[in-house]
Amino acid sequence: MVRADVTAFVALGANLGEAAQALRDALVNLGEVPGIRLVRASSVYRTAPVESSGPDYLNAVAEISTTLTAPDLLDALQSIEQQAGRERPYRNAPRTLDLDLLLFGGARVDSPRLTVPHLRMEQRAFVLVPLAEIAPSLVSAAQLAAVVDQVIEKI
Ligand code: ATP
Ligand code: MG
Ligand code: MG
Repeated sequence: MVRADVTAFVALGANLGEAAQALRDALVNLGEVPGIRLVRASSVYRTAPVESSGPDYLNAVAEISTTLTAPDLLDALQSIEQQAGRERPYRNAPRTLDLDLLLFGGARVDSPRLTVPHLRMEQRAFVLVPLAEIAPSLVSAAQLAAVVDQVIEKI
């Protein structure tokens, strides 16, 4: 059976090493996964670490179209993180690359390793602002107003 394409949104973040290059490489790698097509990517934004430490973060959001299931998509995201040298010494540690699944069509997923929509996306300007850039209908003015005190700069 041919599986229908699902529109999904992925948050990209990095604050260690060549962060801008890591985001560019991640977009290329995403588009090369069998079953994933890169539809569009937001601008890159610079943000101060939130509940984290180290250098400023670079963040972006990508829209993809995929025939993968949500768990298989998470596997693909984690394998791209591994390729970028991602380590997890402690929660919210600085990172070479973080790829989070924000939305998977209209699906709700609540399993031990995957929660969709991403649980913390509404609290984060570094997610909502790039998401609003590429998918304005998915983010409300009220959601943006709630994170307006977080400093974020388009680069
Ligand atoms: P945060 O989730 O607050 O952004 P993080 O991205 O730094 O934190 P990670 O270390 O990248 O956290 O991921 C921890 C675990 O979160 C992963 O092992 C994964 O199984 C789980 N997880 C649950 N839901 C998602 C999701 N929507 N996208 C990515 N990972 C998820
Ligand atoms: Mg994250
Ligand atoms: Mg993550």
